[in-house]
Amino acid sequence: MGKVLKVREVGDPILEKVCDKVDIKNINHETLDIIEDLKATLEFGTGLGIAAPQIGISKRIIVVGAKKENIKYNYAEEVPVTAMINPTWKKLSKETDIQYEGCMSVPQIRGRVERYKNIVLTYYDEKGNKIVRELNGFFARLVQHECDHLEGIVFLEKVKEHSGFATVDNMNKYNLREKNNKL
Ligand code: ZN
Repeated sequence: MGKVLKVREVGDPILEKVCDKVDIKNINHETLDIIEDLKATLEFGTGLGIAAPQIGISKRIIVVGAKKENIKYNYAEEVPVTAMINPTWKKLSKETDIQYEGCMSVPQIRGRVERYKNIVLTYYDEKGNKIVRELNGFFARLVQHECDHLEGIVFLEKVKEHSGFATVDNMNKYNLREKNNKL
C-alpha cells in the first residue's frame, strides 16, 4: 500500500527542476514504491493526475486517473488509473483548445491553458513494457499537464490570456466553466 504524502505547492524549488529519467532496464522496488505513493496521494486528493516532483521526487513518473464522479470539468471523460514511466508525447495535429486547469500544487486557483487536442503518447508501464497510444481531448490535456511537471513547469506559466485565472469559488459563482467551454 502506498503512502499518502504531502503535496508540494508552488514556490517549492522541486517543482521547478527538470526530473531525471528512470532506468527502464532496472525498474526496482524504489520506483514501484514511488508509483504506489503517487496512486495513494492522487486518490486521497482532488486531482486527476500527479507527477513525482509533486511528492518531492525528481523522477520522470506520473500517474493519471479520474473517476467520473470526481471530475468537475464537464468536458472530461473517465480515465483509468495508469502509471507512466518516462512519458513523452508529440502532437498529432496543430489543433488546440483552451480550457481551465487546476493542479494539486496550486490550491484554489484555476487557469485557462491552451493545449494540443491530439497527441501520441509513449511511456513505460510498471513492468517496463513500452506503450504507445493516441490520446485526444481531456486525456491528452491531462498528460500534457503532468509531463510539464517533469520539465519543472507549472500550468500558471502557460496562462496567457487576459482574465485567464479564477478561484474555484468564482468558477462556480460566475459559471465560468460553462461560459468558456463554448469558445
Ligand atoms: Zn499539476
